[in-house]
Amino acid sequence: MSKEIFPGIFKFDIPLPNNTLGHLNSYLVRTDEECTLIDTGLDLNESFEELNRSLNEIGIQPKDLTNILLTHFHIDHIGLVSRLRKISDAKIIFSAKEAELLRSTSSNLENYSDNLEEFYRINGAPPEIFTWARMTGLVNLDDNYKLLRKPDISLRDGEKISFGEYDFEVILTPGHSPGHICLYEPEWQFLIAGDHILPGITPNVTQRDEDGHPLTDYLDSLEKGGRVFYSKPS
Ligand SMILES: [Zn+2]
Repeated sequence: MSKEIFPGIFKFDIPLPNNTLGHLNSYLVRTDEECTLIDTGLDLNESFEELNRSLNEIGIQPKDLTNILLTHFHIDHIGLVSRLRKISDAKIIFSAKEAELLRSTSSNLENYSDNLEEFYRINGAPPEIFTWARMTGLVNLDDNYKLLRKPDISLRDGEKISFGEYDFEVILTPGHSPGHICLYEPEWQFLIAGDHILPGITPNVTQRDEDGHPLTDYLDSLEKGGRVFYSKPS
């Protein structure tokens, strides 16, 4: 189902089966020249069909997409990228830091899986979670992983990206994931927050960095978003 939340900006609820969150917020920014999808949903037929339905409601086909922008590298946000890319000429727009980490942490998906298992192990996760991660987190990731390592457009903290009359400011908000980005529109005063801020719950801090301080990063990111928001004239 689609809902127009600002002129030409639509919110889609993409189902997350077997997940208490219920759905993922996906957004479509439609201008005269471009159709930009922000976050996609899981790589499941159910998600793909709902995305199709939502697009069709506003007269758009998946092949019409010109851009796909991802806030961070989590399977519920990036899942449908490769499917959509196969049926459209959409440019992939992604966080520069998230893409850099994908390029630096491993050269192939198998290493990525091993790294993730090692992270779970050193943090004391029970062995059964390793199987769960492989079954639920990494299936069908290969194509998406390859695409997102080298996006068509990379976004860095403080950069601007415009779609029609909307001029978004990119805010790097590490914590939930290391290269998570939010998009802030100062004129209209709204924030596309990805998973940085969620209604009613605190996002999990899943950043994997043995030398870093993910929770500190997350709290700093919250403050940073607040500074950007409150420094703008109302
Ligand atoms: Zn996430």
